[in-house]
Amino acid sequence: MHDFHVHSSYSADCKYCMETMIKGAIKADAKSIVFTDHIDYEYGSPDINFVFEIKDYLKDIMRLRNKYKNDVQILSGLEIGMQPYLNEKNNKLVQNHEFDFIIMSTHLVEGVELHGGDFFKNKKKIDAFEQYYNEVLLNLNSFSNFDVVGHLNLIDRYINFMDKSNDSLDIGDYRDILKKVLEKIISMGKGIEINTSGYRYGISSCLPNIEIIKLYKELGGEIFTIGSDAHTPSDIGHNFDVAKALLKELGYTHMSMFKNRRNNFIKID
Ligand SMILES: [Zn+2]
Ligand SMILES: [Zn+2]
Repeated sequence: MHDFHVHSSYSADCKYCMETMIKGAIKADAKSIVFTDHIDYEYGSPDINFVFEIKDYLKDIMRLRNKYKNDVQILSGLEIGMQPYLNEKNNKLVQNHEFDFIIMSTHLVEGVELHGGDFFKNKKKIDAFEQYYNEVLLNLNSFSNFDVVGHLNLIDRYINFMDKSNDSLDIGDYRDILKKVLEKIISMGKGIEINTSGYRYGISSCLPNIEIIKLYKELGGEIFTIGSDAHTPSDIGHNFDVAKALLKELGYTHMSMFKNRRNNFIKID
């Protein structure tokens, strides 16, 4: 198993050090993991800071890569929280360091974080979805120095914050904007990630869900990595078997692994 989305205490929302996460990976029999700690410039919340010293981070990864080289391959990555005006800053960050893999995520919409629920206040569900996917599209239009888009339908994780008056909203209601987003990702030669954290967050599905992955496949999307978005050691590789079975059912035979920012397709085992 290769887990392409793992956090450590370099992320403000994870309390486990890299070494503890690595021990979790070894226990879960992972062949490789990628540390993709959060860099979210200008997150807009005074309570949390998603920025850290990259040099220390990469130094730690190198040291631990060497120490555990016989047990598990440790790769270096980032999960960049993108906002459309941060393109230059994020581009510099990626260009000036050596990473194996970069995830681009959209955690904020028009400067408002999804996590606290404010974004959904006094808003119709359909408007929230359209605004969210429009923001993803803006991010894609302004930044290209990444490999896959993180948890593409993150908004589904926050369904509990939303207006309950039109609960029946389904993918058909925002298909047009979603399709534009997927077409853009494919035309850029980028991929998506299959993020298994959805199973832990009570939406009983991976992110994106099966309907979105189906649409991605129909549109010709071939590139995807699988990641747990682990914030604790026991999350590593969580529900990968379920995700792999689903991907095979949809007709996929290969998934992607990235090293030195290069994509290698490997067979889904
Ligand atoms: Zn994220
Ligand atoms: Zn994450």
